[in-house]
Amino acid sequence: MAYVMQVRDKATLKRIDIPPRGISISGSGEVRPARRNTAGRRPVILPYRDVNGSLHYALVHSPRTPCYVNGDDVLTLHCLSHRDFIVCGETALFFDSTIIPQPESLPDAHEVPCAYCRGSIQPGSGVVCCPNCGLVYHHDHDNSCWLANNRCACGQITDLDQRPDWIPSGFTLEAADDDA
Ligand SMILES: [Zn+2]
Ligand SMILES: [Zn+2]
Repeated sequence: MAYVMQVRDKATLKRIDIPPRGISISGSGEVRPARRNTAGRRPVILPYRDVNGSLHYALVHSPRTPCYVNGDDVLTLHCLSHRDFIVCGETALFFDSTIIPQPESLPDAHEVPCAYCRGSIQPGSGVVCCPNCGLVYHHDHDNSCWLANNRCACGQITDLDQRPDWIPSGFTLEAADDDA
């Protein structure tokens, strides 16, 4: 997931991962996972995929809350770039496009082939689903096909402990908030 860093006070940032449904932003500092009925009422940041299947994020404005990206008024929609600075009312966020993979369990549906070893992955086993291209890999404590290479076939970096490669100057980042 890509993430935003919300300005909490003059010198502190809080990291908020952007879930698959996106996040909604209130003008008064509330940033939370978007819901179906949020669209139009609040500005939202939504993921989308381009024709190559790569993941990007867009800020969709709400007529009730003026939004700015890097100081420019967002009239309808703005495709976000790494390090964009977003202001919605009193809420200020830095956008980081780094997509960090998350280990999870394969849902109880049906087994799928591993993209690395081609073996089948049973429902309930540990996997990493590539956040960029969607390929599924084994990922258990004793065996991780996901970590067998530094990158997925699509180019996504497999490192699970990536840290922000930048922090806006003058700020410190609070410990990450795991909402998993
Ligand atoms: Zn495997
Ligand atoms: Zn991939």
